Amino acid sequence: MQENALFAITNGLYVLSAKDGAGFAGSLVDAVSQVAVTPYLVMVSCMNTSRTKECIEASGEFGISVLPKDIDPFVIANFGYQSSRDVQKWNNVAKVEIDGLPYVPEALAKIRARVVNKLVYASNTVFIAEVVDAFDSRPGEPLTYKCYRDGFKEQVAVAFNAYKAGRSAGQAACAAVAKTAPSAAAGQPAAKRWTCTLCGYVYEGDIPFEELPDDWRCPLCGVGKEMFELQ
Ligand code: FE
Repeated sequence: MQENALFAITNGLYVLSAKDGAGFAGSLVDAVSQVAVTPYLVMVSCMNTSRTKECIEASGEFGISVLPKDIDPFVIANFGYQSSRDVQKWNNVAKVEIDGLPYVPEALAKIRARVVNKLVYASNTVFIAEVVDAFDSRPGEPLTYKCYRDGFKEQVAVAFNAYKAGRSAGQAACAAVAKTAPSAAAGQPAAKRWTCTLCGYVYEGDIPFEELPDDWRCPLCGVGKEMFELQ
């Protein structure tokens, strides 16, 4: 099978927001579609390792921020290159809170949805959700996954590396502890993960590891992608 052929499917890029008793989580996702009009239903797919996915299961609802083409590349890095288990992503960027959920202020539209159905697969969980509010739409070009792959990801890598360089050693140590928290759902086979063979960091970002820029580096020890193995 030519996996690259699947890249021909047009996807946008979105920040998914959710919360549970521990606070906010957020993920970068590309698999979002409107799938019905009566009622208005959207479909969102999350990686099973995602903290945001756990929050959606706990709360039964989520927000979608539709990202514009001119979004700050750091927003993509913040939500796509790291896990909500390691960092409070919403503390790193501007946000607007509406009815208790955070959104990206520059979003072309903000959507709130309540889960009505769930499909669980080996790698991903698919939520079908009813739109309960859609608001703050504004003109602009949406960012597509193709645009990210075709050049934008280099800008995202630069933004991520600058951010990483500015993080304190203390924050990195906290991240190292946080990543050891169990994340596989009970009864689910543990999915293979890209792991740094030098420091043990487990990549749990929302962009597939293979899609990260060539100069992406381990956020804990700084080695390149070639030092990661699927374990
Ligand atoms: Fe490492």
